[in-house]
Amino acid sequence: MDARTAPLLWMPRVGAAPAQPLPLDGNLRDRRQRPWRDLRISLTDRCNFRCSYCMPRSRFGPGHRFLPQARLLNFEEIAQVARQALALGVRTLRLTGGEPLLRRDLPRLIGQLSRLRTLDGTPPDLALTTNGSLLAGQAQALRDAGLNRLTVSLDALDDAVFQRMNDVGFPVAEVLRGLEVAQRAGFERIKVNMVVRRGVNDGEALPLAEHFRATHGRGVVLRFIEFMDAGCHNGWKLDEVLPSAELRARIAARWPLQPLPATRGGETAERWRYADGGGEIGFISSVSHAFCGDCTRARLTAEGQLYTCLFAAHGHDLRPLLRAADSSETLLRQRLAEIWAGRSDAYSEQRERLRALRPQRADMHVLGG
Ligand code: SAM
Ligand code: SF4
Ligand code: SF4
Repeated sequence: MDARTAPLLWMPRVGAAPAQPLPLDGNLRDRRQRPWRDLRISLTDRCNFRCSYCMPRSRFGPGHRFLPQARLLNFEEIAQVARQALALGVRTLRLTGGEPLLRRDLPRLIGQLSRLRTLDGTPPDLALTTNGSLLAGQAQALRDAGLNRLTVSLDALDDAVFQRMNDVGFPVAEVLRGLEVAQRAGFERIKVNMVVRRGVNDGEALPLAEHFRATHGRGVVLRFIEFMDAGCHNGWKLDEVLPSAELRARIAARWPLQPLPATRGGETAERWRYADGGGEIGFISSVSHAFCGDCTRARLTAEGQLYTCLFAAHGHDLRPLLRAADSSETLLRQRLAEIWAGRSDAYSEQRERLRALRPQRADMHVLGG
């Protein structure tokens, strides 16, 4: 049976979710009445960087075994999950990793995903997060294939600090070149994400702000992300978190800021603009100001586990269903609806208590951020 002709209600398995019929459309809600609107799709667990807050070299050295190719979802399987997620109300598909530009033939997947449709018949909002290292060579092909939005991670403008952050000696100039090529390729409002660690790279926040203020006319929005306790290997310490409010005060002391309204529900960043017209910046405050109440995101790992929280210890394995001989679109949609309806995650709101209770968390390069 095709997804569009499937019944709109589904009785969940006993114990899997609330004992009411589940809407198999955009009315689906989790246990906290949150709709599902975003799917982040990790395309690989591999990366050519070793950012210490994500894949520290001590843990992900030469001996580390990444997933073999056969364990990765293929493009058709990814598109199947995306198609059913869109049928349940998802509007944004964000490709990530590991480093997503390492995945061979990426424009073909983007083409496939851009031909899918949301519930209102429009194409999905297709976004990608990359470290930018391979962007110069691929930006035009990604844009031509139908990618709408681009986020580039960049933790410093100073080359020595940046090379320490990526820990593979990758030069900042090549990421900046990738950004320029992406702008010429037609990407508008590119976002740049900086993870801020107090005492490590917080001195780079103002230089980055200044750099992208200067180029704001070309449409780059810089966002500062608080260092998060994702995974179990990044040596997270609360005193390395620079709360957004403190950073915002530092920036506002130099360039006064004014708040901007959110553009859509489920937005992770608080938006601000320079009062002098220098453009927009954002703050993602997962530690100091939890936004779980608005969380509309789920994450699909490269091997087909669906996680309903960035800080979850376990995902839900979709591969057996995707690879079963009697697999059907309806069964997959029902399974996804059950998983979403059963979700009550709010890790950031309960961080203090859950950190003690939940020592295992999936790694960021597996979940895709
Ligand atoms: N490799 C790509 C990149 O770096 O953009 C995509 C995957 S990366 C896991 C996605 C995002 O997660 C990046 O913006 C990265 O800076 C962010 N990230 C990774 N570990 C983090 C942490 N511990 N705290 C905050 N952000 C983190
Ligand atoms: Fe790689 Fe991105 Fe993680 Fe850095 S943050 S190690 S670039 S996956
Ligand atoms: Fe969503 Fe989990 Fe992050 Fe809260 S902690 S915003 S539930 S991913």
